[in-house]
Amino acid sequence: MLQRIYGTAFESQADLDEYLKKLEEAEKRDHRRLGRDLDLFSIQEEAGPGLVFWHPKGAFVRKMIEDYWRNEHYAHGYELVFTPHIARQELWRTSGHLDFFSENIYQPMEVEGQPYLIKPMNCPFHLLIYKSKVRSYRELPIRWAELGTVYRYERSGALHGLMRVRGFTQDDAHIICTREQLDSETKRVLNFVLMILKRFGFEEFEVYLSTRPEKSVGEDDVWEQATEALKAALVDTGLEYKIDEGGGAFYGPKIDVKIKDAIGRVWQCSTIQVDFNEPERFDITYVGQDNQQHRPIMIHRALFGSMERFMGVLIEHYAGAFPLWLAPVQAVVIPIADRHVEYAQKVADTLKSQGFRSEVDDRNEKTGYKIREAQLQKIPYMLVVGDREAEAGAVSVRSRAEGDKGAIALDDLIEQLKTELEK
Ligand SMILES: [Zn+2]
Repeated sequence: MLQRIYGTAFESQADLDEYLKKLEEAEKRDHRRLGRDLDLFSIQEEAGPGLVFWHPKGAFVRKMIEDYWRNEHYAHGYELVFTPHIARQELWRTSGHLDFFSENIYQPMEVEGQPYLIKPMNCPFHLLIYKSKVRSYRELPIRWAELGTVYRYERSGALHGLMRVRGFTQDDAHIICTREQLDSETKRVLNFVLMILKRFGFEEFEVYLSTRPEKSVGEDDVWEQATEALKAALVDTGLEYKIDEGGGAFYGPKIDVKIKDAIGRVWQCSTIQVDFNEPERFDITYVGQDNQQHRPIMIHRALFGSMERFMGVLIEHYAGAFPLWLAPVQAVVIPIADRHVEYAQKVADTLKSQGFRSEVDDRNEKTGYKIREAQLQKIPYMLVVGDREAEAGAVSVRSRAEGDKGAIALDDLIEQLKTELEK
């Protein structure tokens, strides 16, 4: 039995204090605890480790993110595809994953005497769609995206909440383009990645460009061109980046984007990888302007990485207090006494008719208790209603972030919420 022991030294007591404070803050934000307290998700031993169950509230947040993701992809020149969860093992032999990645792939199952795998990667499927007909240079670049659920074997000791799991949904996309299009496509992808990440309040990034490793395939000039294309895209965004010499994949160079969360921790998130190898392995071609067959280049990219991991990061980044557009419940209406329940219901219905997610807490509990509970559930707005509010068509607003904000006409509140959502 080996035991690894880490030691950390600090220059001053102040540095140590700050570090301890950060640890405490991180513990408060632990997504596993918040996931349970806010009823977002669970991982059930009965089903197996590393497999995520999304409860209604967590599923709702995920749905909102996915809707946003899909809309932005359509708006930025992508098309969406769906592909199966299992397929013949042979596909991943062709792709090379069985050679380079086998320790993470589950044992095959037998179907009519043939080995099938549960998919560890989506790439071969997108290439099969590409191969379903003859492609012309006019169709390129092709940008296909899929929220593709994959399964990979991770040792149980390596599993960690949503951050490292055995089944996860990649926000995957493959761009198939000509060599000439590589420059503009990498720029486009990188800008798209940054735009989406900023939407979630991430402003600071650590960016790495990983270059050709010793064990790799492909011609020098193609490597050179691809590395230069990635570099140019980085320069274009004005981001500072570090070079990870020899850290690229065996099939091409890549950019990794790490995000810095609200308390300064860094999380690996997006990756953009240029690939010359897989188009060759699957023998995909396009007919060029010269009527000849040419080999396209492929870019693999994920911007969240996986939905599971990104949700884990988001829960910790927001400390469970999702912004208004993501919050599963945006406002809870709290009647002071039984006689106010009817008006409370009217308030909730009005909010719902305006597209807001609102609930009435009509349990037989004290108002203070209900407020505390709504605060613990990190609901953005608590709307307390009694005689005065009912008479005036108003609500007493308590905001999760700013506390008591006093009484306000319901119509005005709706306007304020709409403005906040737009922001
Ligand atoms: Zn891929």
